[in-house]
This record gives sequence, C-alpha cells and structure tokens, in this order.
Amino acid sequence: MPDTSAVPEISRLTAEKRPAVRNAVLFVVALCLLLLAIQISDSWRARQERLAEVAVATANMSHALAAQGESAVRVVDTVLAGVVERVETDGADRGAERARLQLHLKNMAAQVEELHALFVFGADGRWLMTSQDRTLAYNNTDREYFQYHLKHRDRGVHVGKPVRSRSTGDWVLPVSRRLDHPDGSFAGVALGTIRIAYFSTLYESFDVGRAGVVMLTLDDGTMVYRLPHSESLIGTDVSNGPIQQMYLSQGPVGSGMRRSKIDGIERLYSYRHLDTYPLIVATAQSKEEILAKWLQSMLTQATITFVAILLLLGFGWRLVRQIMIRDHLQNELVGAREQLQEHNRALTVLADHDGLTGIANRRRFEAAMTLENARAARSGLPLSIVLIDVDYFKRFNDTYGHVAGDACLRQVAAALRDSLVRPADLAARYGGEEFVALLPDTDPAGARMVAERIRCAVMALQIAHAGNDAGIVTISAGVYTSTVASTTGEGVAIAASSLVERADALLYQAKLSGRNQVCGGDGTAA
Ligand code: GH3
Ligand code: MG
Ligand code: MG
Repeated sequence: MPDTSAVPEISRLTAEKRPAVRNAVLFVVALCLLLLAIQISDSWRARQERLAEVAVATANMSHALAAQGESAVRVVDTVLAGVVERVETDGADRGAERARLQLHLKNMAAQVEELHALFVFGADGRWLMTSQDRTLAYNNTDREYFQYHLKHRDRGVHVGKPVRSRSTGDWVLPVSRRLDHPDGSFAGVALGTIRIAYFSTLYESFDVGRAGVVMLTLDDGTMVYRLPHSESLIGTDVSNGPIQQMYLSQGPVGSGMRRSKIDGIERLYSYRHLDTYPLIVATAQSKEEILAKWLQSMLTQATITFVAILLLLGFGWRLVRQIMIRDHLQNELVGAREQLQEHNRALTVLADHDGLTGIANRRRFEAAMTLENARAARSGLPLSIVLIDVDYFKRFNDTYGHVAGDACLRQVAAALRDSLVRPADLAARYGGEEFVALLPDTDPAGARMVAERIRCAVMALQIAHAGNDAGIVTISAGVYTSTVASTTGEGVAIAASSLVERADALLYQAKLSGRNQVCGGDGTAA
C-alpha cells in the first residue's frame, strides 16, 4: 500500500512552497502598504498646505499692522517736528508765543486720534508746556527718553520704552525729539505719547484664534503691547523670545514655528519690522489650533483607510485560504492518482507475472504468443517456441520437499530468463515445472541453440537431484518453429495453440529419448 501520509496537510503548507499563496500575500500586503503610503503622504501634504496657508495669513496680518503702526508713529512724529520747530524759533518761555504754542499743542492732541498728549520739557526736565489743561510740577529727567536726548545730539525721532503717564496714569508709548538752543546745546525734549490702548483696540479686532498672539515690541526687545492683553507684560524685556531671535537671524521680515517663552505654547509666528521706526509687529497662531481641523479630517481619513486595510486583509486571508484549500485538494487528487497508478502497476505485475518465479506467467505468454504469431504471419518471419519440463521433478519434491522444489523452480526460471538475450524474447512459466521461451524472428537452428543454452544453464546450476540419472537437476525441451511458408504455404499462420501442442509433442519425444536433451529445431517435425 502506498504511504498516504505523503499527501501534505494544509497546516504544513508554507507560502514559500506555493507561488500562488505567496503572490496573493505579497499582493495584499503591497496593496495595504500602498494605501498606508497614500494616506500618510496625503495627510502630510494637507498639513503642510494648512501651515503654509496660515503662514500667508499671519504674514498679511503683520504687514497690515506694521503699516498701521508706521503711520501712527509718523503722524505723532510729524506733529512733534512742528512743535520742535516752533519752540526753537519762537521760544517757549515768553508769554504770547507760549500761549499760542500751548493752544497749538492742545489742538493737535485733540485732532490727532493717535496722540495721547504732547509735552515740552525744559533742559532741567520741568514741564514747560502740555496739551493738557494743567502743567504739573513734575520733573521728567528720570525718563529714559529724556536721558537719551540729553546724551545724544541727534535730532531724529526717538521711540522710547513704554511708561505710565504721570498726568493720566495710562500706559503710553513715548515718541520724542530733542530741543536745541541756537548754540546747539541741550534745550529740552518735545514729547508725543501714544496710548497703548490705541494699539489694543486695533489688535483686538483681528482674529488670531484663542491661543493666538499679536505683539508690538521695540527693536531692543522691550514689550510695548501683547494680545492677549496683560498689563504686567508691558515694558518687560522679551529679547530672548522667539520674535527677537528670528529678527536677529532672519532680518526685518520673517516667520517660523517657535515656542513662546511667556506661556510655553508653540506658535507659527510672522513678524515685520516697521520701515522707519524701531518697532516690530508680530502675529502668531497656535500650532495646535492651526492643525486642529487638519487633525480631525486626518483622523477621519485614517479611520477610513484603516477599515479599508482591514477589509483588504480579510479578503486577502479568504483568498489565501481558498488557494490553500484548492492546493490541498489538488494535492489529494495528485496523491490519489499516484496511488491508483501504483495499484494499477501492481495489478498489471500480478496479472502478467508468475508469483513464484517472477517471470511472465502463462496469461502473458499466450497474449504475446498470439501477437507474435500474427506478426510472423504478416512478415513471413519464423517464430520459434521452446517448451521446457524439469526431469523427474516429482521425485525431487518427494526427496527434498516442496520448499526446496519451489526454490529449484525459481533457479531454473532465472537460468531460463538469463539465457534469452534478444529484447523481443520472452521467458514464461507455462505451469507446474514447465517453462516456455518465445523467440520471434528465430529460425529452427537458432531456436535449438537457445534451447541447448538453457539446458546447459540449468545443468550449470548443479542442483543436486538424487532421483535423476545425472545426479543434478536437468531439463528436457521441445523446439518448434513456425514459418508461413513451411506451415500453410498460403500466408496464413497456424493457430498459436497448435504451435504449443507440436512443441509439447517434441518435448515428449525428448523425455522418451532419455531426458536431459532437446528435440526439434533441427528441421525434423514432430
Ligand atoms: P518427468 O521427468 O516425466 O517430467 O517426471 P516428473 O516427475 O517431472 O513428471 P510429473 O509431471 O508427473 O511431475 C510434475 C511434478 O512437479 C508434480 C508436482 O509435484 C511438481 N510440481 C508442479 N508444480 C510445482 C510447484 O509449483 N512447486 C513444486 N515444488 N512442485 C511442483
Ligand atoms: Mg511436467
Ligand atoms: Mg517433469
């Protein structure tokens, strides 16, 4: 029985052994990876687009705020220039001019929205004139802008650090110019102040999100105003903050993702330095807020992709299962077919071969005989048979036993088989201790020669046989050759069975003539 365990089990099948399974797995995995790659690249692109979009929006906002800041300071500066010119020409201490100038200051402060107040201080820091109704007995030598002009001879405008107004208590941004005596010596300071609240009103109208920031700082990093508003931050030093850092590295205009030193929030900053004045405007939106929408849509998309990948994997798994089942069935089929072929081969061997000796059996001999006889009739070639019988075999059995008899028959069969050299020759067991050799295309002389060779081969075996005259096992043989011409002369072969009969008659003659000899094949008919 063939070994059925050789048919592989599904569990033992590996993808490497099955190109179809491996290809299906590779295909599904590649598809999943592709989906994943598309999802990641899409999300990344959307993220970058969103950041770029917001960068443009904040840059535009900074641009607008810088232009507005520029014009606010310029207005104050222009007013101041006029005041300086008047004070230096007309003086600020004589009655009529002083009264006129005082009125001028008051009118200017009333007309120019950006202006909180105008002041003129003497060289000693006393308030000489103000746009306000009262002139208080304060001394402003302690103010940064006053000290600046005292120490610097330049006539340009100076934007100072934010201060709390002594007259109103408001936070203001001081814009000032130096006053000179005709000889060029220090005559005092003309000051215009801009209310910090002026910036806050404007900045609050911009939407920078809940965690966004709008900032106005001096070049040196002094905070002028920051939205969301916190009074405690005005005037503080933020020179180590992101805006100043970027300003130093990128120049007057720039942007970047930075973390705030004040609240630790990461923001996309966009800043711009004013064209003329030492101020920087910056707007920023929190990264978290910028990316919130993107994150939401990314998560939705990622969920869809994830589900798609799961479906794909499920489908792939089913596909692989199907292929494995198909392969398994195919294997079983192949196994069953091989088994069947093996059975058929065994059956053929059983049907055609003799169980004891292993050479062809009588059935096979008769089939071959019929075939060769017909072929000989067609071709006109001679067909010989040698019929062989072991001499006194009954006695052999009686003397040595049946088992030894069987062994003897096997040896005789082997000797017979080995004596036939042509591929077309056939050695068969005819029955009992009788054998036959079928010799196509062999004439009587050739057949007799083969018969003698067989007889000698058996004798050469030297199997002891006390009941035989020769003392060893011998055979007798009858040789008969059929030729179309010699049998009928009409091109029709004699029946195969009568061929055997004639050979048998010659065998009988050999027995009668003393055994251990060949009869026929020498031209004599039975
Ligand atoms: P002869 O010389 O006249 O042929 O004498 P013989 O004894 O061989 O003649 P016979 O045909 O009477 O005897 C044949 C014997 O062969 C009978 C049987 O016991 C024996 N025999 C036949 N087939 C087998 C077999 O398969 N195995 C064994 N051991 N003996 C067999
Ligand atoms: Mg016999
Ligand atoms: Mg015999």
